[in-house]
Amino acid sequence: MRTSYNHGRASVLESPDPLRGGLEQGSRIAIPRELAPLQKREHVRSTGFSLRFGLRAHSLKAVLQPGGWRKAPGNFKGVCGLKPIHGLFVAVFLVAMLGGILWAEPILPPTPAELQKIAKATENVTAAPAQAPRRVLVCSLVPTGYVHSAIPFGKAALDALAKKTGAFTPSFTDDIAAFEWDSLSSFDAVFFNNANNELFMPPNFKDLSPEEQTKAREHDQRLKENLVRFVQSGKGLAVLHASLAIFREWDEYGNIIGGRFDNHPWHQEVTIRVEEPGHPLLKAFKDPEFRLTDEIYQVKGPYSRATHRVLLSLDLEKSGAPNLDKLHREDKDYALAWIKPYGHGRVFYCGLGHDHDLFWNPAILQFLMDGTQYAIGDLAADATPSATRK
Ligand SMILES: [Zn+2]
Repeated sequence: MRTSYNHGRASVLESPDPLRGGLEQGSRIAIPRELAPLQKREHVRSTGFSLRFGLRAHSLKAVLQPGGWRKAPGNFKGVCGLKPIHGLFVAVFLVAMLGGILWAEPILPPTPAELQKIAKATENVTAAPAQAPRRVLVCSLVPTGYVHSAIPFGKAALDALAKKTGAFTPSFTDDIAAFEWDSLSSFDAVFFNNANNELFMPPNFKDLSPEEQTKAREHDQRLKENLVRFVQSGKGLAVLHASLAIFREWDEYGNIIGGRFDNHPWHQEVTIRVEEPGHPLLKAFKDPEFRLTDEIYQVKGPYSRATHRVLLSLDLEKSGAPNLDKLHREDKDYALAWIKPYGHGRVFYCGLGHDHDLFWNPAILQFLMDGTQYAIGDLAADATPSATRK
């Protein structure tokens, strides 16, 4: 089973095509965040990796050739001084940085074979009839910090599900202008596909002038209020895996989705309980439990069975706890998926979604389909809290 790690902090330079990109287009690759110059949001995704990589490669080449440190570009020599030993240190440093680039896992789209597996996994997926043409805003934005390499796989899966069922039209965009009310209100649901961190704040916030920072905060606040209004008014929100951790400083986001990220003590094969076989959102799973490998989140904060209808949870005894010191829940209730209301709207959370092969697992795809349709409002399901259900 394929496991993906990307521990380097990285940014993603997006391809215009949500499902393609990659090295062959030179436009979708992860680079360590610390190498990326701080820049305005609108520039983050348009400046080329090749430009920055090329600059460093040129500097490195200049240093490594015999006597090259003397011929290095002016500002490079200005930085490292004119002593060979300094040039050597800089060369080692640059090699280490380049090593980091090569070591960091690139954010690559699914291969043709993987796309085939995803399409095949949707063959038997069923959908409730759409009560109207449905539009889903799929946001995978990660302005800063760790980027999940599963993002393009989530996009491909949603695209395949939409094509197979015709139940909704996904709009893949990481342009936060989509959260302006005129745009947002035209959607039936938002799907956070491993989006993470402060979605509505410019990554270079600290470099902005006080006036620009005030504007950025106001903009951030307005878009957050739009999201609250959107769901409260009766629309839907689907949250996949890392998107549990968006807006870490914004309390209301925790209230919307009903939980907060508290580390991932497991990344192994675990036993997952299907809490209510027969529930409309659990028809994907035929057995009362199943085994699956993924990065498993621990949830804290406003999570409660008094407010959530829990769908999937970890069987701790059957899964083991290799990182006991990371386990914080005294009730040992490690929920992995739930639904809950928020105002007049519906929230679906699925904590699974790290490993790539989940996105060609037929049961998981059916589950994501059902959760998305629940969020949209086309799949009726009892969201009475687990603690009070009959
Ligand atoms: Zn993850």
